[in-house]
Amino acid sequence: MKETRGTSRQQNQPQGHYGLTSPISLAPPSDKDHIHTQKLIEAMKPFGVFEDQEELYHRTTVLGKLNNFVREWISELAESKNLPPSITEQVGGKIFTFGSYRLGVHTKGSDIDALCVAPSHVERSDFFQSFFEKLKNQEEVKNLRAIEDAYVPVIKFEFDGIEIDLVFAKLSLPTVSDDLDLRDDSCLKSLDIRCIRSLNGSRVTDEILRLVPNLENFRLTLRAVKLWAKRRGVYSNIMGFLGGVSWAMLVARICQLYPNALASTLVNKFFLIFSKWDWPKPVLLKRLEESFLNLPVWDPRVNPSDRYHVMPIITPAYPQQNSTYNVSVSTRAVMVEEFQRGLEVTDEILKGKSDWSKLFEPLNFFQKYKHYIVLTASAFTEEHHLNWIGLVESKIRVLVGNLERNEFITIAHVQPQSFPGNEVLYKQSGYVSMWFLGLVFKKAESAVKTNVDLTHGIQSFTDTVYRQASALNILKEGMKIEATYVKRKQLHYFLPAGTLQKRKKQRVSDISQNNSGLQCKRSSLGESCSDGSKDRDSRTPSNSSSLNKISKLDISTAETERLVQ
Ligand code: ATP
Ligand code: MG
Repeated sequence: MKETRGTSRQQNQPQGHYGLTSPISLAPPSDKDHIHTQKLIEAMKPFGVFEDQEELYHRTTVLGKLNNFVREWISELAESKNLPPSITEQVGGKIFTFGSYRLGVHTKGSDIDALCVAPSHVERSDFFQSFFEKLKNQEEVKNLRAIEDAYVPVIKFEFDGIEIDLVFAKLSLPTVSDDLDLRDDSCLKSLDIRCIRSLNGSRVTDEILRLVPNLENFRLTLRAVKLWAKRRGVYSNIMGFLGGVSWAMLVARICQLYPNALASTLVNKFFLIFSKWDWPKPVLLKRLEESFLNLPVWDPRVNPSDRYHVMPIITPAYPQQNSTYNVSVSTRAVMVEEFQRGLEVTDEILKGKSDWSKLFEPLNFFQKYKHYIVLTASAFTEEHHLNWIGLVESKIRVLVGNLERNEFITIAHVQPQSFPGNEVLYKQSGYVSMWFLGLVFKKAESAVKTNVDLTHGIQSFTDTVYRQASALNILKEGMKIEATYVKRKQLHYFLPAGTLQKRKKQRVSDISQNNSGLQCKRSSLGESCSDGSKDRDSRTPSNSSSLNKISKLDISTAETERLVQ
């Protein structure tokens, strides 16, 4: 770890190369690389990962309007607070974008992460009151909701069909000019921690862009990796896999190591490097910085809790954080296995023995394991259900952690997408969502069948969810969660045959609904996805009385066939 911290603040990277080490290869691309990269682009198009000019223009217009609202609101506030006219005329205010839109890798239908930067006369409470009201009065604005007590407080809304997540920071400056640069750490001086966190997203995204040698190659590679991760069920920060910013940093590191390579090579090297990475060695895009501001930064030498992070990927702007604190031993193992598959598939593609569509084939999750846990969350009304599943989803990694700690379980793999309950469940419990976890049990040492007790892990998870729901005051009559152990052959009681079948190749019409092939429903606390190709009715199992039987099974004890793993 010694090499990771510089003795002084280093704004600029050493001349000649990006990142902490010299590149692995400076080889320029060959004609073959150009052909492979072109084929990669063609293979990605049906998934809707590239937005057309018209959609791009629409986003720019929306952002322009939003920027004007912000300036108008800040100037109105200045007047109402009786600031002198010399200040009122130039208070300014600005919208910065960050996340995938700013990186230039957003897809059709993705949201825009934005930051509203205001001068010192504007309070955070003004943002959540008068600006919220201003947005409410705009006819283009729909689905407006404020999440003021979040780690990074945010206002979420749809503006003319585009989902926006807007965070807020006030600077210690009387005015905010159009050419304001947030790169300098001094802009963080004497700010409240929520403002620092809100500024962080933008500072991190911009720093990533500065740390890659070729933006075009970075963007295409990242689009490919994000699509692959969604198709293989490993794209989800909340479920303990990686979110957008972590995938961006992994790809950026590969771009630093192969600065002249095209996307076809970079995707292959991505899988090569990260299938062999010596986790928990951290992935860093630059040296960790020290600053006079003394904010808490990720540093396992100083913070004992940082030593437990199993897959650290560290953000490059001060104060540096690990972006993957949700990753567990199980989710890392699942991702490493997928990196290995990615390496094998891309090796074949580059040899001309396979094509890119193979890389984007969906994971056959329901064929992969012998043992599953079905987690159902139900509520009586649709609104209660949306709130409920948001909370349950944000806690599923607690269940994964509990199962991981069971001495007989080696892997607990949650599929990030949820499924709507079928008619039988609907009649029993109302609005239902289901998540599935695949389990791998440890191989038994002797030829004796063992009963594995899952009661404790499941019970302590459900207790945590109910407790949290009460604390947040969202627990309503009819809200229920249940976790049931099932074998693979019993999954058809819950899911239609189409979902369970091994799908070698999905039709493009099935997958172009959005980039992941899933339809996502947003809730105030999270989002859930369902296989868009089927509706509720088609999910009714052929034998509904059998489902009753399953749900009455003793869920606490799973008799495992550990001998035949
Ligand atoms: P997507 O295409 O999925 O929206 P994204 O890159 O926009 O990907 P988001 O999950 O929307 O990622 O997050 C937006 C921004 O918020 C990120 O770019 C990052 O700056 C910040 N952020 C989100 N999650 C984390 C995290 N776990 N650690 C640090 N920063 C994060
Ligand atoms: Mg985003």
